[in-house]
Amino acid sequence: MTPDLSKRPINRLQSMHPLRALVDQSYISSLEAQSQGKPVVWSMLDNGYGAPFFNALDVESVYPENYGTMCAASGAAQGFLERAEVEGFPTHLCGYARNAVGYTARLVELGEIPPEAPAGGMPKPILLVSSGYLCDARFKWFQSLGRYLDAPVWTLELPNPGQRESLEPGAYENEVKFLIKELREFGAFLEHLLGRKIDWYKFDNDINDTMAMDKTWYEVNELRKVRPCPMHSRDFWSSMMPSIFRSADPKAAGKLYRDMYEEVKQRVDNHVAGINREEKYRLTFVGLPPWHSLGFFDQLAERGWNFVTEVAYHPPRPIDLRHISDPVERLVRYRYQDLAHIIDYEYGPEKGAKVVEEIRHNGYSHKLDTKHVKDFQCDGAFLHPLLTCRATTAPQRLYEVQAMEEWKVPSLVIEGDIVDTKLFDPVGAMRKAEVFEGTMDYYRKIRQEKGLDW
Ligand code: SF4
Repeated sequence: MTPDLSKRPINRLQSMHPLRALVDQSYISSLEAQSQGKPVVWSMLDNGYGAPFFNALDVESVYPENYGTMCAASGAAQGFLERAEVEGFPTHLCGYARNAVGYTARLVELGEIPPEAPAGGMPKPILLVSSGYLCDARFKWFQSLGRYLDAPVWTLELPNPGQRESLEPGAYENEVKFLIKELREFGAFLEHLLGRKIDWYKFDNDINDTMAMDKTWYEVNELRKVRPCPMHSRDFWSSMMPSIFRSADPKAAGKLYRDMYEEVKQRVDNHVAGINREEKYRLTFVGLPPWHSLGFFDQLAERGWNFVTEVAYHPPRPIDLRHISDPVERLVRYRYQDLAHIIDYEYGPEKGAKVVEEIRHNGYSHKLDTKHVKDFQCDGAFLHPLLTCRATTAPQRLYEVQAMEEWKVPSLVIEGDIVDTKLFDPVGAMRKAEVFEGTMDYYRKIRQEKGLDW
């Protein structure tokens, strides 16, 4: 279909708006809960382990990481970052963590939610749920918040082994056992703290509804493999919250993702792109986005750049776990999937065996992490290294090498930050992007010569 150049560069999905509205709703619900004297929990991104417990115990939860994105997008973050600095926290610390510390310092100082807080703010919690997953800021960040707030800290220990270690005989089953034990202890602690029992029937249904919701969301993203790609990363980021953080009602959120599936499918059938310009370049986004400068992607869309997939925030691959009657075990096996299963799902038995062999030999596989570059027919990868997040930045150099070695796909490296506007240079970034178009054109030819092109 011929693009309508009179329209804004990114062709936003209508079905994104109700999903985006659930984010605001979650803050409203937590504020209402507080005014009714109900408990509110602050939780880290926890790979989805906490949500069924909170839903089954009728507890409201908010996520300081998500709140950091809201503060960044609204412009409120800078003041909270400066306050964290005054409190003695270094500027190379995670932007989400600094934002939360600054916010909390203000909350405690005023004795009420700071007036500059967007979305009504995060009410004072009765509990801080952190995790040992992924990064250096993690539970030390929530322990720091605990110094300001009269609230206990519970740390969920979540295993995160390397690829070779994951394939060691018995490793997966040991980790499943560990996680089940960990979550049972967490549930018992919550029951004790709140003085009420988990509704296991509700818990069970919640997991099933969440898996169904995620499956639809997964299928929406699979539709983005076609040319032109019908959905831009901005719609992905605006819609991911119920899946990645928590949905208080996964059945209702699943219906909204179904509506999105229908809209995206309709675009596929009619060859409508996620940008209102000719799709010249298809890109994957690697790292965490600059939430304060998402308008930058409009400028790139103006030049025909369509962001067709992302490395972070996707739901787990669909898996049939109906045979597992224990809901805690089902939750664990859904959230923490066996690497052997993932390889089999992505490659099938024959090619999968080669990937396993490569992992056993090298410690990791070049093929696994960059396969989406081929699946989504990408011309380039947009890497966003952050000085303030070693966890998502450290693997990017390896990704760059792998994407080039395996698929002859080049990477554009734009340094920035998730929250701190001072660390992002949009003018310099645009200059680099313009030059990168020549690099993408060049490697398109190389792929054609090597029979790799898509
Ligand atoms: S992974 Fe990075 S951005 Fe996320 S909480 Fe950790 S340091 Fe912050």
